[in-house]
Amino acid sequence: MTKNPFSAEISKRRTFAIISHPDAGKTTITEKVLLFGQALQRAGTVKGKKSGQHAKSDWMEMEKERGISVTTSVMQFPYSNHLVNLLDTPGHEDFSEDTYRTLTAVDSCLMVIDAAKGVEARTRKLMEVTRLRDTPIITFMNKLDRDIRDPMELLDEVETELNIACAPITWPIGCGKSFKGVYHIHRDETVLYATGQGHTIQPVRKIKGLDNPELAKAVGSDLADQLREELELVVGASHEFDEELFLAGELTPVFFGTALGNFGVDHMLDGLVEWAPAPLGRETEEGSITADAPTFSGFVFKIQANMDPKHRDRIAFCRIVSGKYEKGMKMRHARLGKDIRIADALTFLAGDRALLEEAYAGDIIGLHNHGTIRIGDTFTNGDNFRFTGIPNFAPELFKRIRLKDPLKQKQLLKGLIQLSEEGAVQVFRPLANNDLIVGAVGVLQFDVVVARLKAEYNVDAIYEHINVSTARWVYSKDAKKLDEFRRKAEQNLALDGGDNLTYIAPTMVNLQLSQERYPDIEFTQTREH
Ligand code: GDP
Repeated sequence: MTKNPFSAEISKRRTFAIISHPDAGKTTITEKVLLFGQALQRAGTVKGKKSGQHAKSDWMEMEKERGISVTTSVMQFPYSNHLVNLLDTPGHEDFSEDTYRTLTAVDSCLMVIDAAKGVEARTRKLMEVTRLRDTPIITFMNKLDRDIRDPMELLDEVETELNIACAPITWPIGCGKSFKGVYHIHRDETVLYATGQGHTIQPVRKIKGLDNPELAKAVGSDLADQLREELELVVGASHEFDEELFLAGELTPVFFGTALGNFGVDHMLDGLVEWAPAPLGRETEEGSITADAPTFSGFVFKIQANMDPKHRDRIAFCRIVSGKYEKGMKMRHARLGKDIRIADALTFLAGDRALLEEAYAGDIIGLHNHGTIRIGDTFTNGDNFRFTGIPNFAPELFKRIRLKDPLKQKQLLKGLIQLSEEGAVQVFRPLANNDLIVGAVGVLQFDVVVARLKAEYNVDAIYEHINVSTARWVYSKDAKKLDEFRRKAEQNLALDGGDNLTYIAPTMVNLQLSQERYPDIEFTQTREH
């Protein structure tokens, strides 16, 4: 077998996302890793929640107002001879569908925990999602500059509540006002913390060995004794790091630090580049494609409209699975079976966009979308296979949407269809009347849609109550049966944004009855693109 010409490029890449409960410190840690990547001159410009600075990863007005991350941004930065891609996940609970799809595009996750609080609800939920693909997890216990809970108890909580073994890599020395730093168990050295250095990369002060007299001098003999005692306990009670278990998603290396004080973040990054997997392959309908397959392939996990109001464009985020992207190359849009030349893919350097010359497996490229790209689409080098595993979820909340000015019906429909292609919302057009129904997984999506329709499509829309309780996509292998169903159930059928046939049920009982009545029709709660 010939060696893949891109193997050096592949092996230096790491593509990950951060999972955490709101306020645990995801944004702060993002700033600091970018600082290490030196992608930003000075940390503190990712999200200007308080200072009013404009955020680099916040594209939308909405986000600035609410101080939440509605969009998914992509950042690439170099770290220690590696190239790291960080995919930001939307912070709000309502956007779980978007978050889910982003997590299908990464190879590992960083779990950030507020060490004063421990495991919180959203972390629990996101961990469930990562479990579906056994994604390797690195853990960062944050906010050590505050009074935190007992570290041993925190590890215990992660183990029992999230069902993953913990292997501490560093161990904290004190916390809050008396936080002195961490002892790096693998390197047998203490790294000392200095306050007030959060905006910089601090000069590292290390003390080798646990019995070094310098240790007591630096942290005080009480804390030094306490550290030695705790470590004896920890080594007995917790797990040793095991790379195989880590890669199987069964064990997480744990780091302690403070994102705000920019302390410990580099230890975590060292662990990420050393242990987290290089770009992994992916399943298709006909078998799997590995990252070292020689020709280009990738899939779209996210579409974002009007990211930059000045450009008024739509960008499809494509994760490269194998091969190399080169400016000007021809790609096959597998769903359409059409070859297109791509001269203007984008890369995402710390949220800024720049034209891209080349990219490799693990990277995310932004493709300009003129309405032909959908979430889940596959791009190849002339092959017709399609990647699997990027679902849409049936919405649980429904409203009828209506215009204040009825002359703008066309604009409204265009806006809704584009927003549904992004996965921001789902839109249904009943076969039997001219209603437009908006379906969402979370309540906040409704507000976002109306705000964006106004800002981006210049239409004023309002919602009305509608008697819909659930929706299912419908299929049948038997075209005749489907036709008959289409006629008989027309009152309950609609087309979604991608023209897929959908059953709109006023009640769960109604859905059940229809399922019983039409056994040849398949009703599904998720739809693969
Ligand atoms: P996100 O919601 O997870 O993105 O959290 P943020 O990064 O916005 O942080 C939430 C709040 O916690 C902000 O006020 C941060 O300044 C603060 N914060 C983040 N990391 C630390 C830390 O290490 N120590 C302390 N004391 N505060 C922190």
